[in-house]
Amino acid sequence: MKKLSEQSIIRFLAHEISLPQQVHGIGDDAAVIERHGECDVITKDLLIEDQHFRLRYYTPQQLAKKALHVNLSDIAAMGATPRYIFLGLGIPQSLSPDWLTEFLHHFKIACQHANVYLLGGDTTHSPNGLFISITAIGQASPTHIKYRSGAVRSDIICLLGYAGDSHAGLLLLERNIADFDALKACTLSPSALIAEGLWLSKQSSVTAMLDTSDGIYIDLKKLCDASKVGAVLHINALPLSPLLPSACEALHISPIECALIGGEDYGLLFTVKKEAYDALSTAFQKEFNTPLTAIGEITDSNHLELMQHDAPYAFHYKPFSHFDEEI
Ligand code: ADP
Ligand code: MG
Repeated sequence: MKKLSEQSIIRFLAHEISLPQQVHGIGDDAAVIERHGECDVITKDLLIEDQHFRLRYYTPQQLAKKALHVNLSDIAAMGATPRYIFLGLGIPQSLSPDWLTEFLHHFKIACQHANVYLLGGDTTHSPNGLFISITAIGQASPTHIKYRSGAVRSDIICLLGYAGDSHAGLLLLERNIADFDALKACTLSPSALIAEGLWLSKQSSVTAMLDTSDGIYIDLKKLCDASKVGAVLHINALPLSPLLPSACEALHISPIECALIGGEDYGLLFTVKKEAYDALSTAFQKEFNTPLTAIGEITDSNHLELMQHDAPYAFHYKPFSHFDEEI
């Protein structure tokens, strides 16, 4: 039987579903339900041992924080304030009670730090590996929600955060390469950009937004597909962290391809009306003391072009994989 891809499963599920008015379902970082002039924003993510994480790399504190923040990142990318959490756990017999107790303790602390309330969940035995499923609920005003579908021709494509750090960090762990702790921390302990997402949500010049979880190339493609537009991505403009080139040298991989394909950065990728970009970028820098990076423009073609110093960049996309695969 032919194997179904993640995208074809999602397309099948979304096909011909008719939703009530005021409800926005499959296709964004989170679903949106509008009621009485307020929006509930709901998302769910799964983390499965040896598919998404190797238990041995993480302290219980790091895994607890990461499990929470990958969900909060989707709420932030919609421009919403995270409020409530449901935690599903499948626990293997092999997991030590001490490890689990630490994990639960730090999960509660991570919720407190993020100002979210744990409202429920489910707990069961897992025959194989640790399984963490989180549902996060946020709130936003309908005028502040940012969908993936709002980008139009000539909008500037911006990235907040570096590209490729988390993937490089994961490969360094997988290949047991010493040092580069800052990159390893990006994969082990990401922080959702909640304040930044909220600030951007209040800017009417921001036309579309999503978080970077699958690599810039595929994340930008998702934004373009949802907006029914194309884009030019300037490879030389991609923000690479100072450590990335030397880490990629140690890994024998290309930093640019690591940035394009590497997932789990949990930055924010968004589009801004061209005429508003300079003012927005200056105001953002003033507010957060961090730069935004313009990495391309939206076009009315139906494809994503990669350019390096004004010449087309030859790139053959290979899907992001969590574990050690050559890039
Ligand atoms: P993200 O990377 O932000 O989690 P994706 O692009 O992977 O988002 O997901 C696209 C959309 O598909 C989301 O709206 C998500 O809720 C939906 N989706 C993914 N898997 C399923 C599923 N099994 N059933 C229903 N919707 C799903
Ligand atoms: Mg997302």
